Amino acid sequence: MKSYDVVEFGAPLKPAEKPTPKPQGTEVLLRTLAAGVCHSDLHIWEGWYDLGGGKKLTVKDRGLVPPLTMGHEIVGEVAAMGPEATGVKVGDRRLAHPWIGCGSCPVCRRGEEQLCTAPRFLGVHKPGGYADHVLVPHPRYLLDLGTLTPAQAAPYACSGITAFGALKRVGEAVFKEQPIMVIGAGGLGLMCLALLKALGGKGAIVADIDPKKREAALAAGALAAVDAGAKDAVKQAQQAAHGPLGAAIDFVGASATATLGIDAIARGGKYVIVGLFGGDITLSLPLLPMRAITVQGSYVGSLAEMKELLGLVATGKVPPVPISQRPLHQANAVLEELKAGRIIGRAVLTP
Ligand code: NAD
Repeated sequence: MKSYDVVEFGAPLKPAEKPTPKPQGTEVLLRTLAAGVCHSDLHIWEGWYDLGGGKKLTVKDRGLVPPLTMGHEIVGEVAAMGPEATGVKVGDRRLAHPWIGCGSCPVCRRGEEQLCTAPRFLGVHKPGGYADHVLVPHPRYLLDLGTLTPAQAAPYACSGITAFGALKRVGEAVFKEQPIMVIGAGGLGLMCLALLKALGGKGAIVADIDPKKREAALAAGALAAVDAGAKDAVKQAQQAAHGPLGAAIDFVGASATATLGIDAIARGGKYVIVGLFGGDITLSLPLLPMRAITVQGSYVGSLAEMKELLGLVATGKVPPVPISQRPLHQANAVLEELKAGRIIGRAVLTP
């Protein structure tokens, strides 16, 4: 099999040829049909996260040691199965749920494998979709695409489930009654707008520093789009929403966007942080109880949430998000373009 691997952090991915794995036990081998390129891949590729105040968390601290095959938004065709793999057959096209835990700890047993402390995430801890084949440990992580093409389906494995999970943390009672703020209109932010529409949300005021992303957000149905870098961004957003915002979902997660999101929400509001751009903030503690606000982190989603999301997608209510298909051998160029902010929506690699 062929893959494009991180061999050295920050250096171009290297093409590699290796023996195609033979699935054992419950394992299923997929022939990759599509693999989305997520901004999280950029963080892995760069090799570190900015913890603020000059501190860093390295990717090695997360237990990731090169060579690494990235790509956690995977759709593939079943190529071979271990003797104990049931429920799929050779030729089936499936979306792989990549957020796989150890399967036996209390967190996994309660169905929140994405929070397992011994994760086996595809494209993170285990080889992923920047390759022509991917090994999945059990058919229960393989989900039907319905009528979607592989390239349309792939982003649901991360940008879809992450935006869906963040909207769940906000809660229907809020987003159906009040506009929310969506910070960052990249792959995740645009997906969030599509899901908000499908779920009957009031709508979103989008904040992004890039005018092209703001344009894309308006085209995707945002009520308004403000420049996140403007001094009066909070005021502009609240004016567009005709009042304080019910919640803010931050798909950037930088010092400036955290301040923006927390300042923009109403009393009793929720600031949900998803993005990993990095930094830190100072919080004035008395204002937390006085404003009764919640600050919550949100990390991808569970297998049950993924099934629920694909059920929503199958209703046809989720508008399509912008997708650009690129050949797998352009993986390096796509990562560079994503880093430079030149991708609208999601780029999806196809072998
Ligand atoms: P992307 O590159 O497609 O989009 C990022 C967007 O943020 C762009 O539109 C960019 O213009 C905008 N932006 C950058 N800096 C900004 C700022 N200071 N203010 C406002 N807007 C700004 O990225 P993506 O794939 O959507 O991922 C976004 C982030 O979410 C990444 O850090 C990624 O690692 C993270 N992520 C987290 C989870 C999770 O479960 N928590 C899952 C997937 C991705």
